[in-house]
Amino acid sequence: MAKKGDFRTLCVHAGELKDTQYGGAISPLYASTSYTFTDVKVGQYPRYFNTPNQRGLCKKIAALEGAEAGMIFGSGMAAISTALLSHLKSGDHVVFQNDLYGGTRNFIKHEFSKYGIEYSFAKGSLAKNFSVEIKNNTKGIYIETPSNPTLKIIDLKAISSIAKKSGIWTMIDNTFASPVNQNPISFGIDIVLHSATKYLGGHSDICAGVVLGSKKAINIVFASAKNLGGSLSDYTVWLLERSVKTLFIRVQAQNNNAQQIAEFLDKEDWVDHVFYPGLRSHPNHELAKAQMNGFGGMLSFNLKSFINSKKFLLSLMLIKPTMSLAGVESTALSPHLTSHALLNENERSAQGISPQMIRFSSGIEAVDDLKSDLFQAYKKAKQ
Ligand SMILES: *Cc1c(COP(=O)(O)O)cnc(C)c1O
Repeated sequence: MAKKGDFRTLCVHAGELKDTQYGGAISPLYASTSYTFTDVKVGQYPRYFNTPNQRGLCKKIAALEGAEAGMIFGSGMAAISTALLSHLKSGDHVVFQNDLYGGTRNFIKHEFSKYGIEYSFAKGSLAKNFSVEIKNNTKGIYIETPSNPTLKIIDLKAISSIAKKSGIWTMIDNTFASPVNQNPISFGIDIVLHSATKYLGGHSDICAGVVLGSKKAINIVFASAKNLGGSLSDYTVWLLERSVKTLFIRVQAQNNNAQQIAEFLDKEDWVDHVFYPGLRSHPNHELAKAQMNGFGGMLSFNLKSFINSKKFLLSLMLIKPTMSLAGVESTALSPHLTSHALLNENERSAQGISPQMIRFSSGIEAVDDLKSDLFQAYKKAKQ
């Protein structure tokens, strides 16, 4: 795993492009879609994922995850769908974690049957819940940890060892942790995915995705990606490089705020339960400590039944009640009403999502301002 000191330097400098013409301090933006043939095997072209800015940024993010290679996509879902489709064919089977990001679940439910790809969901978050689902035609295991929105932790080493024994691949959506808090490749996971719209971007103004892994795995992804065409504009690639320079300090501040908010809410009598792996009361606190470098900026909590959860959200004055997460500004939402609204009641309750649940994404504001905002919203939402 990259040492923390190195990690900060990698965030700023890995993969940077030199401005040899003018000696500028930052990577120049090469907006060209057309390049003369050089010694690269495939001609340089944006949809071939190999323009100078794309390659520079891949190098930076791959360095942060300890990956050999990577590719940048136009959204998290472009990265996820392309990684899965490239590694599967008709008749194959995949084991998925049950509580997946909503978009990923929709993708599987609506697209896989068209291609004759089979899947099943593990019935819990223990490694044995995954191994019992493995069949003769199973090609891979797909996980997300910490999970959304209940912050369950899955044992990375155990999952990778089951997969290696069965000769199948593993993929993880590492969005919630970010490369600062968790580097799954060091635990034997094959492919790491990120919605760069979240922590890598960090300012709620970029939509992008990343796939990372060995050169061999990325070559397989590339073979399909150039046909599916989900590349990211170089203008946005350039902006994303700027964001990643501050990734470490942003996420560090978000981790600190989340820990303090979780401890604060845990003591309040209007809160029923707090879901945060940094709390000693979290059932997987020790596992999280063992495989994460920090507990992350995401937490959820259940309001007691005498509080109207919708009114609570609308009463927040500093914290924004918006859909996305991981920005420098704190946001909160009701999974029941938004991110998990497309699931039916049974699916939601199987994942432990109650109408009283609030998912909170810590920003980098002063933590006392965030605590006061949560407290005044509770006062207004009491019924
Ligand atoms: C947002 C998100 C995605 C999808 O990313 P987009 O950039 O919106 O396509 C996938 N996984 C997780 C965990 C996410 O939070």
